[in-house]
Amino acid sequence: MADASTPTRCYWLRDDDGAEILIPMCCGSAIGGPAECTCNVPESRIEAAERGRAEAEAQVLRLREVRDLHLEEQGRMWRENKRLRERISELETLLAGKARC
Ligand SMILES: [Zn+2]
Repeated sequence: MADASTPTRCYWLRDDDGAEILIPMCCGSAIGGPAECTCNVPESRIEAAERGRAEAEAQVLRLREVRDLHLEEQGRMWRENKRLRERISELETLLAGKARC
């Protein structure tokens, strides 16, 4: 016996702490949580939250990529420096040998 005041879709409830919790009314969110909600909550905060999460994840990935690039570049420079130092000491040895002749 559903009347107008009985919600048929999931809805958000603000608790005393100001946190919002989803009151599940569909099987999806009841079983799988807000991400699995199938009833398109109006003004869906679920989507907003999901979007925010996706953006945060993308941002983390971007930062990780930048960091990896920096590490790669740093490694490349270290290897190059090492190679140059070795080359220099080779040349020094060579020169020292020539000077003795
Ligand atoms: Zn739902």
